[in-house]
Amino acid sequence: MAGLTKAEIARARRKLAAAQHVAVVSHERPDGDAVGSALATTLSLQLNGKQAEAVFSDGLPGRYRFLPGAAGVRRDLPAGVDLVVSVDCSSLDRLGPPAGELPVINIDHHATNTLFGEINLIDPRASATAELLFDLAPQLRLPIDADVATNLLAGIVTDTIGFRTASTTPRVLQVAADLMARGAALTEVYDRTLNQHSLAALRYWSHGLARLEAQAGLVWCALTLDDRREADYRGNDDADLVNLLSTVDGARVVLVLVEQSDGRTKVSWRGRDGFNVARLAEQFGGGGHDLAAGAMISGDRVQVEQAVVAATRAALEAAS
Ligand code: AMP
Ligand code: MN
Ligand code: MN
Repeated sequence: MAGLTKAEIARARRKLAAAQHVAVVSHERPDGDAVGSALATTLSLQLNGKQAEAVFSDGLPGRYRFLPGAAGVRRDLPAGVDLVVSVDCSSLDRLGPPAGELPVINIDHHATNTLFGEINLIDPRASATAELLFDLAPQLRLPIDADVATNLLAGIVTDTIGFRTASTTPRVLQVAADLMARGAALTEVYDRTLNQHSLAALRYWSHGLARLEAQAGLVWCALTLDDRREADYRGNDDADLVNLLSTVDGARVVLVLVEQSDGRTKVSWRGRDGFNVARLAEQFGGGGHDLAAGAMISGDRVQVEQAVVAATRAALEAAS
């Protein structure tokens, strides 16, 4: 596996041991695996007596603020940092914050990872970066107490959408059981990260759902800035609407387009029954996993929707 040799892991262990002050970062618009993996790594380094901070340029989405260590998150790289650990981020341009000239250890599970670190620990077989971190922890000498375990479990629960994705192997369930035995709060993690939605989020969904479209195995809808304002929804994402669309019977691909205040449109694709959406996202400058991918696309919102729907329909036709 590229970048996951014993030698590379040993280099990472030595680099971590030598570091004085570590910043742990992840991708912009962080999801549960980004936050859980970053907080777990940060807390574990602190258990080792290191100065370590998790840094997220945009802060944390509200739903992850219950996680242990969330209160210590910073928005800027602190002065004096001598090592950056990037978790769950596939390329430098998605890092939030940028690492500048600092050395980077890159730990991730995206097959599309560009190996941008000085040291790269990449395993696309892992269901979540948090699962990979659990596997690497003994070799990296990263201790796992109850708080670290809760964060790692949050990463796994969210990236597998509650153990529902095809990436959920027996090993994933064993890791989750081990984390629970170490004190991870499964029920709270599940409830806060997957089950609970704000009223504003549901109102925001209702705007998109009112315009839901379906054609030959493709189900999609767009969310506009007006929808967001009218619902008083504070995030810049789809509030997980894509997961709801994924439950539609007979859908092979679902997609949600979210208008952004900077003129771009965020697109999320989800494939079912093995339908690969990573290549579609790549066509539009994005990336991701085989069955879950995204892209941030510039241009007129309506034209972006037409182009994305046309490309997705063409891919569906080619596959059938
Ligand atoms: P999302 O649709 O944002 O939930 O993302 C689904 C998957 O695609 C995640 O693994 C993301 O890391 C990845 N992804 C989303 N947006 C992008 C992008 N602009 N570039 C590369 N990967 C992305
Ligand atoms: Mn992620
Ligand atoms: Mn992930």
